[in-house]
Amino acid sequence: MQKSIIITNSDKEKLIQHAKSEEPYESCAILIGQEIERGWKVIEVFLTENTEKSKINFTISPQEEFKIDEIAKQKNLEIISIFHSHPTSEPIPSNTDKKFMKVNPYPWIIYSGHTNIMKAYSLDLELNDISIDVV
Ligand SMILES: [Zn+2]
Repeated sequence: MQKSIIITNSDKEKLIQHAKSEEPYESCAILIGQEIERGWKVIEVFLTENTEKSKINFTISPQEEFKIDEIAKQKNLEIISIFHSHPTSEPIPSNTDKKFMKVNPYPWIIYSGHTNIMKAYSLDLELNDISIDVV
């Protein structure tokens, strides 16, 4: 079954602006929300720091992820997706991304600053695309 991530246009724009402002480095964010029948609904976006300051990798500090997880729990929500950008390449998970997707088994959203396309993936669904529905 095709699953989808429901996100508001303003949250999507927030992610794109963050990606543009962090260039030439990769940017990242954590999305909290709810699991719904057909996928996930984004309630809030937290822009995070890429502690690697790298053009081809990103790392979110465990402390920052922990803090966001705590905020989510207080709101009866959960982390539902990890976002990052590829400033100069396609929005396709790299081998490093795939490795970390196993550790962080959320849907991952990747935005390409090169093609301006945003796509979502999940290892559970064997990397079949998850649709991103902007509302
Ligand atoms: Zn990547």
